[in-house]
Amino acid sequence: MTTATVPAPGDPSWWLTEALAAEGPAPARPLSGRVTVDTVIVGGGYTGLWTALALRRQAPQMSVALIDAALCGAGASGKNGGKVSGYWSSLAGMVKTIGPDGALAVARAGAKAQDALRAFAMAQGRDVWWREGGSVSISASPAQDADLAGPVEIARELGVADTVEALTPEAVAQICKSPVFRGGLFFPEGATIQPARLARVLRLAAIEAGVAVYEQTPMIGLDKTSPNRVRTPGGEIIARDVVLATNAALARDPAAAPHVSVFSSYALMTEPAPDRLEDHGWRQDVGATDGRMFIHYFRKTPDGRVLMGTGSGPISFNGDPGAPQLRRDVASAERAARGLRRLLPAFAGVPIAKSWGGPIEVSADRLPFFRTMPGARVHYACGYSGHGVNPSYIGGQCLASLVLDRTDEWTTLPLCTRELPRLPPEPFRYYGGRAVRWGILSCEEAQDKGRAAPLVARAIATLPRLFGLKIGTR
Ligand SMILES: Cc1cc2nc3c(=O)[nH]c(=O)nc-3n(C[C@H](O)[C@H](O)[C@H](O)COP(=O)(O)OP(=O)(O)OC[C@H]3O[C@@H](n4cnc5c(N)ncnc54)[C@H](O)[C@@H]3O)c2cc1C
Repeated sequence: MTTATVPAPGDPSWWLTEALAAEGPAPARPLSGRVTVDTVIVGGGYTGLWTALALRRQAPQMSVALIDAALCGAGASGKNGGKVSGYWSSLAGMVKTIGPDGALAVARAGAKAQDALRAFAMAQGRDVWWREGGSVSISASPAQDADLAGPVEIARELGVADTVEALTPEAVAQICKSPVFRGGLFFPEGATIQPARLARVLRLAAIEAGVAVYEQTPMIGLDKTSPNRVRTPGGEIIARDVVLATNAALARDPAAAPHVSVFSSYALMTEPAPDRLEDHGWRQDVGATDGRMFIHYFRKTPDGRVLMGTGSGPISFNGDPGAPQLRRDVASAERAARGLRRLLPAFAGVPIAKSWGGPIEVSADRLPFFRTMPGARVHYACGYSGHGVNPSYIGGQCLASLVLDRTDEWTTLPLCTRELPRLPPEPFRYYGGRAVRWGILSCEEAQDKGRAAPLVARAIATLPRLFGLKIGTR
């Protein structure tokens, strides 16, 4: 069988092209002149849009504007894998960083977010391809087997055994057959969506809820005065409260910078091939990952395509969100294609319609944080760490409560209150991150081939654990 070539990665994502075509004309109105509102939200991805909706619902008297530099959904919200789940699969890691009570509180917030997403997605007139069949984490090499026991044990210890189920290799094959699949874990809480459609439908819901949405309107300056002033090329917005929902762009802000590092994630979308899905016996609507540190994530679409992604894209220096390697790295797109051929070999010859990449802001403990900047009425979200579809709903509720000065179930979550661990400063962060990424990738590529990785790669790959970092550890 000939293997399909991967188109060089580039914007827009396959998802955004599909969503905009389905939506039809939706005039993008840039801001012109001066506007005064109670709250202005900068960034029209999920975080900004959920915040806007929460504010209008909880404080209907409050005027809200939202600006986006490009289009709502042009950022990560319109290009992700569309795998939707909360934090049950992260319990083991969270217990170590925020303790058992904190871990349970965050996982329960994720369950609430999943309910809210389902209700939003299933509302009449919305078609965001919501499919809810759980998610599965599959060991795809002997080295990945070791991580299968921990999540089941932790869930049992915390009294939430029903949130995860161990799968034998035979049970994994019932879901999807592959020559490299071994045992796995099934998480009943898990869905897939068309991510860009979700972003665009959220935009429409925000407009219908009375939010003034301005697209093609970048913030070029923020005066943290009282009230605040957000400057744009065509005008300015005066507002008591500002919400910064600009995702990776925040990684250079002094408030967030010590706590996040910007890596990248890449995905490809195949052409439809329902017969090849049949070859793998893949009929259930599950989202899937393998057990790598730099995971492969994959899911199918209703018309029989497969999206394959890899969280292994390059890092940028000093959190630069515009660095070309975050969106144009051919090697990362090829790694995604190699993942497709290895994990789902029946797809090896299926043409690839598109590939793309984007920044992910990885926090030191791999959890997001929602905060107010000291001495200013400026609130922000950062650190989703490549897992933000469900958590950005939590982010929206937390940010709305911060704007409304509320102490409630959201603002008391560890996502708003924990002491944030710091990462090493630049240039150590960049050069250290590059070295560790190389070490881990070399080890994982060798493990896939059943070989031992070079000693130097193994030594470097263990550094994050030695220094007690959560970045770079499974
Ligand atoms: C390739 C990829 C795959 C992923 N897969 C998954 C997945 O399967 N499941 C999952 O849970 N998570 C996944 N994620 C992560 C998830 O997509 C993000 O965490 C989430 O979308 C973040 O939403 P957001 O609204 O905070 O950011 P964004 O969607 O990035 O929105 C930020 C917005 O801010 C705007 N902006 C930036 N600067 C300015 C400015 N100066 N002025 C005005 N506007 C500005 C941008 O145009 C953008 O629209 C993935 C991410 C990537 C990149």
